[in-house]
Amino acid sequence: MSKLELKNLVVSVEGNTILKGINLTVNGGETHAIMGPNGTGKSTLAQIVMGHPKYVIESGEILLDGELMNDLPVDERSRKGIFLGMQSPVEVPGVTNFDFVKSAVSVRLPKDQHLRIGRFILQFEDAAKELSMGSGLSHRFLNQGFSGGEKKRNEILQMKLLKPSIAFLDEIDSGLDVDALRIVGENVTKMKSPNLGMVLITHYQRLLDYIEPDFVHIMIRGQIVKTGGKELITKIDQDGYDWLKAELGVTDFEEKQPQYSLGTCATNTAVNSVTK
Ligand code: ADP
Ligand code: MG
Repeated sequence: MSKLELKNLVVSVEGNTILKGINLTVNGGETHAIMGPNGTGKSTLAQIVMGHPKYVIESGEILLDGELMNDLPVDERSRKGIFLGMQSPVEVPGVTNFDFVKSAVSVRLPKDQHLRIGRFILQFEDAAKELSMGSGLSHRFLNQGFSGGEKKRNEILQMKLLKPSIAFLDEIDSGLDVDALRIVGENVTKMKSPNLGMVLITHYQRLLDYIEPDFVHIMIRGQIVKTGGKELITKIDQDGYDWLKAELGVTDFEEKQPQYSLGTCATNTAVNSVTK
């Protein structure tokens, strides 16, 4: 059973401090939801745990089963069982979906083991079927020309095959219609086990109707300002976040930050993670 601990994590990007002291422990078997207004650092949290090179840890620790992860590159974190389902999965022309997942699964095997390709093909096909994904999918280039919903389902397909022990799913519900949301929700719920600790980042209650969280955290301006149970979801769904402004003594949740683009860097990360 894995344990991820974030201790007083302060993170900056391009000189701006985004996360201002995050403390969070995720144990195997637990499902956490992180909710919060746009621009408060939810994706930054997911990216720093996965090891995106653009995000800088100013202080604090990321520990997996007591081992410090702060300086490990993304592929090693993946091998140790950390997974990120991205908010905006990148398109990687030239690498087929099947080859990408096959490589990612192969490099995570112990040195003396090889991927049994026949069995893997069956697993890939079963996973795609469970997610109601078309059969041509394996031979298409990674995410290229995929609809928003297909990209999100593809992240879950990868998760099913990589079998992580700690998974962050960043707005896995955005761009999904009701049927796709149910399919994704059911697939993720089926993966719940004592060997998997999950963090669902979402704006909406509707995802959490399908995947029940044990803990709900509200993140505002780079800090977790409230932790509770499912009752927090209902409150946010009914009243939004404004009631927290008075409680926290702030007038606005969004801080002005420059515009940015992650495209090239994220693509490099994705490619590095399978080619290293
Ligand atoms: P959320 O996921 O909660 O909407 P993000 O973590 O994406 O928030 O962003 C938090 C803040 O950090 C925003 O103000 C955003 O502009 C800034 N930010 C995030 N990533 C980058 C980046 N790669 N370069 C510059 N600023 C960034
Ligand atoms: Mg985000």
